[in-house]
Amino acid sequence: MVRHFIPETLGEALDILSDHACQIMAGGTDLMVQKRTTAGVAPAFAKDVLYIQRIKALKEIIHTDEIVRIGSACPLEEILHDQEVPKLLRDATLDVASPAIRHMATLGGNIGNASPAGDTLVPLYVLDARIVLSSKRKNREVLLADMITGVRKTVMHEDEMITEVIIPKHKFQKSTWVKVGGRRANAISKVSFAGVADINDGVITDIRMAFGAVSPTVVRSLPIEGMMIGKTKETIGDVIGEVVSAYDLLIHPIDDQRSNQSYRKQVAMNLLTDFIKTLF
Ligand SMILES: Cc1cc2nc3c(=O)[nH]c(=O)nc-3n(C[C@H](O)[C@H](O)[C@H](O)COP(=O)(O)OP(=O)(O)OC[C@H]3O[C@@H](n4cnc5c(N)ncnc54)[C@H](O)[C@@H]3O)c2cc1C
Repeated sequence: MVRHFIPETLGEALDILSDHACQIMAGGTDLMVQKRTTAGVAPAFAKDVLYIQRIKALKEIIHTDEIVRIGSACPLEEILHDQEVPKLLRDATLDVASPAIRHMATLGGNIGNASPAGDTLVPLYVLDARIVLSSKRKNREVLLADMITGVRKTVMHEDEMITEVIIPKHKFQKSTWVKVGGRRANAISKVSFAGVADINDGVITDIRMAFGAVSPTVVRSLPIEGMMIGKTKETIGDVIGEVVSAYDLLIHPIDDQRSNQSYRKQVAMNLLTDFIKTLF
């Protein structure tokens, strides 16, 4: 029989995880859909369930001058209304589901689900977010881009959980988030794009871009971004073609019920080109 655990503290939760193989449940907005059976029948869980929603320490947002630390069980709706959270993440969070879902859904759940269409992942890649993975044995920090290895695949061990998301604070001069979905709310992304840039004295000094829902994991390429550093209004045109071709090789969308490969690819390339063309 499947048991459930509802700890009040992080210490208790980590003790439970070290002793039992558990399915972690935060808001349950992904899990209850994934584990559904038929109408009127309770969802089917194969493992014991560890509910983390009562752990206050996982719901905090802590700011310093340099970083923001967001507890993994913090509801998305709270992140949305915290003006010190980077704008790019707030913009993407506003596009997740609908207000009712966002009150239950958590940032840790969006990451733990490891879907290429997870909307907060795209800005978090661009913002160089680090994920704190905790177990009874130790805490470790992993770059989000290194944590997610495939569709619903992560480097997390069975006794680990996401406890915090650490985001370096930096106000980018340009910040763009675009989600393409079937409707304005409660739509999973067909394609998404996040881009940020700093331009000083007419020269690109920092530029970062990432795409969601077009490959098994979010696509971001530091070498391609590097091709644009140092470019100006006059010279950016020299590399646009090369940049688009380089991303074209990295983006491998699939056909599914929401969209098809060629549409996704074309839209991703259009979003990239638009972002670069409107930098200056
Ligand atoms: C109607 C509807 C619309 C939606 N629209 C969107 C959308 O527009 N964009 C979008 O990105 N998502 C959307 N979703 C999906 C979902 O709401 C989000 O992914 C949400 O952030 C999941 O958070 P949760 O707390 O509910 O996760 P849960 O369902 O509790 O968990 C999801 C996964 O993460 C794991 N997990 C949770 N917390 C942790 C933790 N602390 N450590 C380790 N693993 C953990 C769980 O074990 C599970 O595998 C939608 C869902 C619904 C039902």
